[in-house]
Amino acid sequence: MSCIFCRIVAGEIPAEIVAREADAVAFLDVQPLADGHVLIVPRAHVPTIEELTPAGADALFRLVTRLAGPVREALGGEATTIGINNGEASGQTIPHVHVHIVPRRRGDGAGTIHTIFPRDVRQKLPQVGAAIRKALGSS
Ligand SMILES: [Zn+2]
Repeated sequence: MSCIFCRIVAGEIPAEIVAREADAVAFLDVQPLADGHVLIVPRAHVPTIEELTPAGADALFRLVTRLAGPVREALGGEATTIGINNGEASGQTIPHVHVHIVPRRRGDGAGTIHTIFPRDVRQKLPQVGAAIRKALGSS
């Protein structure tokens, strides 16, 4: 088992665990962007969001919702940014789904989800909507 998150879940690698549930585990990022930067992972090795089972997604996001408030409050934050790099091209470096929760406060110097993208829009919304509905099989 070479996946570092699977090894943390199995207890083979030490981590600062903050919550353990039947199907998901939360621990502190070892390279935190701010105090309280938490990662939430499914216990099962699943590379990307689209590969989660419905039950796996439910367990993962239930733990995210359970932690968002306590992570913010424990570190005196005013808000949180919650994000997922989904797939290698997005910057996901460990191919085991993980959700970041980072406590935020006004003036902390960090941007928003919008600031990570140089705006690159080439199609009209109806075209984009139709393409996505077609991919969903519901055009
Ligand atoms: Zn894994």
